[in-house]
Amino acid sequence: MTFDPETTTFLIAGPVRIHPRVLRAMSMPSLNHRGDYFHGIVAEIRELLPVLFGATGHQVILSGSGTAGLEAVYASLVPKEQRTVVLANGNFGERTDQIVRRYSSRVTTVSAPWGKPFDPAAVAAALEGGDVGAVCVVHNETSVGLANDLAPIAPLVRKSGALFLVDGISAVAGIPEDIAGWGIDAVVAGSQKGLAAPAGLALVHLSDRAVSALHPGTFYLDLAAHLKSLEKNDTPWTPAVPLFLALREALLLLKEEGLARRLERTHRLAEASRGAADALGLALFPDRAHASDTVTAIRNPDGMGDPELRKVLEREYNVLVQGGQGALTGKIFRIGHMGIADWPDLLVTFAALERILGKAHRLPAPGAALRAIVERMP
Ligand code: PLP
Repeated sequence: MTFDPETTTFLIAGPVRIHPRVLRAMSMPSLNHRGDYFHGIVAEIRELLPVLFGATGHQVILSGSGTAGLEAVYASLVPKEQRTVVLANGNFGERTDQIVRRYSSRVTTVSAPWGKPFDPAAVAAALEGGDVGAVCVVHNETSVGLANDLAPIAPLVRKSGALFLVDGISAVAGIPEDIAGWGIDAVVAGSQKGLAAPAGLALVHLSDRAVSALHPGTFYLDLAAHLKSLEKNDTPWTPAVPLFLALREALLLLKEEGLARRLERTHRLAEASRGAADALGLALFPDRAHASDTVTAIRNPDGMGDPELRKVLEREYNVLVQGGQGALTGKIFRIGHMGIADWPDLLVTFAALERILGKAHRLPAPGAALRAIVERMP
């Protein structure tokens, strides 16, 4: 088998596989984005967005990748005068720090090693001394396959009075997010992850408190301007029309499945991936207790880098998984199992992995990985 982008088993950490219904939804002639037909589509999207976030509130659709959503939030909500605390334990946390520093010169960074959870005491210490206007955290650190536990951090943020700004790009519709309970003021989702729409849109949920605190930041990504236009089912600038059509269909699919069922399915796929990795004798990269349900990050076996593993998966078995980022390049590989990923995807991927390890005489127990998956199927 050779790599074929149209038929590949596609399990990178986002963009994820897209349902044919969503692909077809984009095949429309050009639409007038200022006309009634398109306004009707925006109205439907607005009605459906609470299904994605599992919460109602002020919700914005931005044309741009997830980073556009993050930039919109930090530019409009990171305070100029007060301190901002950024939590970083992976590539995207470090990028948060970079973005926030564009908008504030008063940043305190709380770091943990990549793949390790934050120590709530370190977060509390950073908040001590007061004068903190915002706390920024990546909920699911895609780069290391780690879900940051926001439950112990949320009360500390609340006590400090700071805005709680969350990068939920690979968390929303993939791992449970208690927006109201944790007092989250802004959460950013990317269209290409748990929602399983094409890449290119950022969805932002804002609390009442966040909306009151918005200040002008960037022009294109001015959240107040977007909110004002959306009240009339409009957008301030020309939107990515085909992506809005895809978004509506992906939201309908999510509504049909139900958010709770999508979360449950994603969790089961993650448990199966972890079980299969164990059966192959492979180690998870993050602390197991904090392993992500949307992305499983696995250490490459000793002596096997990308050319021996990931590239063989792609070339010989038409399976795409993702490599490591930064210092982890060639050291880990990541399997994304969010969105509409399903059991056949995992079975094919782990069957191919088993064969590769078998040929390399590195397979501890033939058949065990597939058994680990089958046992976890509904
Ligand atoms: N934050 C997280 C947690 C991500 O996983 C990603 C992308 O993978 C980003 C930010 C950046 O999003 P984008 O590449 O859509 O701009």
